[in-house]
Amino acid sequence: MTDYQKAKALLHSKKAEMEERLRRTDKHVHHREEPISAGFAEQASEMANFEVLVTLDEEGKKELLQIDAALQRIEDGKYDECSTCGANINQKRLEAIPYTTYCIDCSEKVQA
Ligand SMILES: [Zn+2]
Repeated sequence: MTDYQKAKALLHSKKAEMEERLRRTDKHVHHREEPISAGFAEQASEMANFEVLVTLDEEGKKELLQIDAALQRIEDGKYDECSTCGANINQKRLEAIPYTTYCIDCSEKVQA
């Protein structure tokens, strides 16, 4: 039987880590305090950094949703059940990607 407690602890610590990261990027993305610099090159690099931050922010939020969904699946007793074919997800895979919803076969199909 799957050790849900371990997975749960892992997901909670990942969630805390992600929330902390989002707090930091959010601050940069939504409350930029520094005035925009005059030099065009500087502006351009600021824009690039800004876009990176926005991407990180969006990815982090998505990941957070996946983590929440995984925690919910633990509650429902479906944590190691593939959302596509219903097969058991390999334990090693769950340790590597604790919020995955696909077994290895389905994840290959999805990403292909
Ligand atoms: Zn599957």
